[in-house]
Amino acid sequence: MCLFFERLPEMSLMRSSHFPVIHVLLLFAVVLLAACARAPVQRSIELPPPQTAPVPPLPRPPVPRQDMTHTVGPGETVWRIGKMYDVPAKEIMRRNRINDPRELAKGKKLVVPLAAAPVPIVTLYPSKKWKYIIIHHSATDEGDALVFDSSHRLRGFSQGLGYHFVIDNGSFDRHDGQIEMSPRWLKQQNGAHCRANRMNYRGIGVCVVGNFNKECVSEAQLDALVYLVNKLRRYYDIPLSRVIGHGQVKGARTDCPGKRFPWREFRRRLRTAGPAS
Ligand SMILES: [Zn+2]
Repeated sequence: MCLFFERLPEMSLMRSSHFPVIHVLLLFAVVLLAACARAPVQRSIELPPPQTAPVPPLPRPPVPRQDMTHTVGPGETVWRIGKMYDVPAKEIMRRNRINDPRELAKGKKLVVPLAAAPVPIVTLYPSKKWKYIIIHHSATDEGDALVFDSSHRLRGFSQGLGYHFVIDNGSFDRHDGQIEMSPRWLKQQNGAHCRANRMNYRGIGVCVVGNFNKECVSEAQLDALVYLVNKLRRYYDIPLSRVIGHGQVKGARTDCPGKRFPWREFRRRLRTAGPAS
């Protein structure tokens, strides 16, 4: 269980992902997911148009193409889902009878026809705002961006999911090591993941799904985390000393991202990974 002793204003921002009541909230979130699937179609979030920097994806594993099911996460677009599986957006639209690519129901299950193995699609935006990268764990066995978005809304976060990125662990039909971009990242908004030392305003919040007080980060998650953090820190010129865990933030009294988080291996790989990694 993630220890959590931050002062009250911080708890109001963070306890949705760390407080033990998350188990209850996740149950509500699952119920909400069913409701989301039937909710009126929600306009997906438009990417800020100018000067974005799509990141070269990781090599795609050579596995046979096959039809795959993909649950639409917060802020996802047909275009991005198509890039993830190397399938034209129009093929996904045709198969799922989507007429307007700008509209996708969050939580909708899509069939991705003849999908290749998925790779993360990460977009970077010019900004002088980001000075730190803050690593969290979800302190839950399961979860994904959609689940945490629902639970954070239940906690009163009007903008939903408080992190900027979520790295999945294979639960909720997500792929182990899948990187999900949050709407907060797409819109370059402040986070709601670490109020201590003003990190919500200058720290990129990355949540790795799992409880790393009692389990280990998977290889696929660590690969994805190294890939993501290196892309972020190089683009935003963030030194390794500012890639820190939530619990290492001044004033944050928590052991997040867990006592078993592999800091030594993580930092070794950040230092030694090649420029394309
Ligand atoms: Zn945390």
